[in-house]
Amino acid sequence: MTEFDYDLFVIGGGSGGVRAGRLAAGMGKRVAIAEEYRFGGTCVIRGCVPKKLFVYASQFPEHFEDAAGYGWSVGEAKFDWPTLIANKDREIARLEGLYRLGLEKAGAEIIESRAVLLDRHTVRIVKEDRTVTARTILIATGGRPTPHPALPGHEHAITSNEAFHLEKLPGSIAIAGGGYIAVEFANIFHGLGVETTLVYRGKEILGRFDMDMRRGVHKAMVDKGIRIICHAVAHNIGKRADGKLEIALSNDETLTVDQLMLALGRTPNTEGLGLEQAGVETGTVGEIVVDDYSRTNVDNIYAIGDVTNRVQLTPVAIHEAMCFIDTVFRDKPTTPDFDAIATAVFSQPEIGTVGLSEEDAAKRFDELEIYRAEFRPMRHTLSGRQEKMIMKLVVDAATRRVVGAHILGVDAGEMAQLLGIAVKAQLTKDAFDATMAVHPTAAEELVTMYQPTYRVKNGERV
Ligand code: NDP
Repeated sequence: MTEFDYDLFVIGGGSGGVRAGRLAAGMGKRVAIAEEYRFGGTCVIRGCVPKKLFVYASQFPEHFEDAAGYGWSVGEAKFDWPTLIANKDREIARLEGLYRLGLEKAGAEIIESRAVLLDRHTVRIVKEDRTVTARTILIATGGRPTPHPALPGHEHAITSNEAFHLEKLPGSIAIAGGGYIAVEFANIFHGLGVETTLVYRGKEILGRFDMDMRRGVHKAMVDKGIRIICHAVAHNIGKRADGKLEIALSNDETLTVDQLMLALGRTPNTEGLGLEQAGVETGTVGEIVVDDYSRTNVDNIYAIGDVTNRVQLTPVAIHEAMCFIDTVFRDKPTTPDFDAIATAVFSQPEIGTVGLSEEDAAKRFDELEIYRAEFRPMRHTLSGRQEKMIMKLVVDAATRRVVGAHILGVDAGEMAQLLGIAVKAQLTKDAFDATMAVHPTAAEELVTMYQPTYRVKNGERV
């Protein structure tokens, strides 16, 4: 007889929760996983996956344009938004099914309900009005777009959640924010033919990235016809009788658009979870506070993924889940490794990046060598497209280690994944130089930049 109904109770069926539940169940542990909406979480249901499908959809007009230089004449192109939405929904439903199947096959019990903590070992299954107990509880409830309630008229705006289900493609849209989501959706909407304006409060979009990438993508977006207004925020949103929105900006300009999308960061989902009853500590933005092992202040309750507000990325949540399994069920305490996380912004052109930006590296190292190439990729020669690619390696001059690698251009995300291995393995620039180029590719530039473009000494470019 065991004391508890389950060895592990997972709250939240997103990337992190599902991975932890599936692995623990596969080890023969008695596992239940509760999800109140759909399995797959933000990434599968209303994030990375549908977003990437939208990105593909939005790239076709440029492909059609580029085809002419290669001898193709393409007839009149027409786009049907409902078709895209229906096909996307079908794919999401398929993936959701796979998530469930993985859990079922491993032997986890799936509970389709909200789950609320009553104390450190007891969970209430809201829909079924029953309580269960578990030795270990894992909270993986993710986050949601920040609604920005302080903004008058914010209720007229949509977030990325609604963008995936709009009944009609708007004629014009304003997007507030300058992060991943704002930039990706600005390119999606523009590519689909929507008149798009991005409004960002800072000096340059994509705050945490290398300045070359930020400026490069900004220029490319403007050249395509996306309007970017920096140093401005929305002050007030009014809805006109004809349904259009009037957005008053801090720079005294008023935008009149069909839709406004807020992409101002994400808030951890911790309200109404019973954290107070269980004594679980939360931080300033409502996030669950955890130690290096993802353990909360209550020693049998753990939390992973966006609800902890560490690094809001799907692969990070999955990695945290695997570390949790090692720590709790394999007697191998393991802390997640957040160093040199490769990531991509699916803007158009894409950004692929790993390691330190030049600006951050300059704060950490006395001397840097910067290798930088800016060129028109071969595929744009016959197409006539003027868009440039930028590749950049940031090297610590003392050790020759490549501490940052940044790419702007087609397939940059794919390249970043492989560069991530090299940077994670702490390879030196000499290893890059010793690597034979793959010709003709754009990526060969990464192993053929033999001389530094410039150096940075004590934070100053020389
Ligand atoms: P980000 O944190 O990337 O960006 C938020 C943006 O909103 C920033 O530009 C920020 O400005 C701005 N902002 C925040 N508060 C305000 C405010 N009160 N008024 C005006 N502007 C404000 O968040 P996102 O919502 O874009 O994305 C959330 C997370 O999801 C990302 O951090 C990322 O980790 C993840 N994600 C990853 C993707 C990928 O891997 N490709 C794709 C999409 C999301 P400032 O820069 O000045 O702080």
